[in-house]
Formats: sequence, C-alpha cells, structure tokens
Amino acid sequence: MKKYSKQREIILESLQNRKDHPTAESLYIDLKRQMPELGIATVYRNLTELCEQGIVKKIKAKVGPDRYDGNIKPHIHFECKNCGEIIDIYLKEEQEHKISNIKKQVSEAEEIQCDSSEIYLTGLCQKCKTQVTG
Ligand SMILES: [Zn+2]
Ligand SMILES: [Zn+2]
Repeated sequence: MKKYSKQREIILESLQNRKDHPTAESLYIDLKRQMPELGIATVYRNLTELCEQGIVKKIKAKVGPDRYDGNIKPHIHFECKNCGEIIDIYLKEEQEHKISNIKKQVSEAEEIQCDSSEIYLTGLCQKCKTQVTG
C-alpha cells in the first residue's frame, strides 16, 4: 500500500477546498501558516506526484506560472487575461455532444482517431469586462 504523507494530505485538501486554481507558490504561502516547517520544494514534489496520479490537474496558464486544480470533475477553464483568474465552466450536455460530434467528424475527415479534446478559453471575466467596457 502506498504511504501518503501527512503533508500531501494537507496539500491536497487545501487545493480541493480552493476554487481559485492557485499556483504552487500561493498554495505554499497559504499552507506555511499551519505548517511552518513546510518547504516549497515539498509542495512542488507533492503536486507533481498528485498530478501523476490523476488526483490533481496542472493547468498551463497563458499568463504566469502553472496553476493547479483539485477538482477533477469534467470541466473546462476560462482564464481572464486581465486579472489572471481561472474560472470553472461546466458544459451542458448538448455542448458536450457538439464537441464529441466535432471529434467524430474530424476523425473521419482526417482519418485519425481523436478521443480527447482540451478546451481553454481566454478573455475578460465579468468583473474586468465591466471595468473595461464601463
Ligand atoms: Zn478578470
Ligand atoms: Zn478547474
């Protein structure tokens, strides 16, 4: 049986409780308060291992360092180019259906087998949109 360190448990729990897709560093700063002995290398190592196990998802943000997501339910991301916030978006069934149709059509047209897709949206979040457009 695989042994989980207490630190990893706390890192995972804290990530799952956050909705903001933190960077390793902001997670570290947050956790350091309850675990003063924690080092940033430990945070990186545990996040990498959790990603490898598929428990955590790494998000390659357009702006700034990688972000982490403890929510592995199927959803896509929207990144605000202005404030850097990453928002979870859950597609409706009909939207999922359209995407799987696209995969099917592309597979046929290109004679390939497309079985997954990565959708990453960028733009302005609600807050920044109002600031920019008044
Ligand atoms: Zn924004
Ligand atoms: Zn997410």
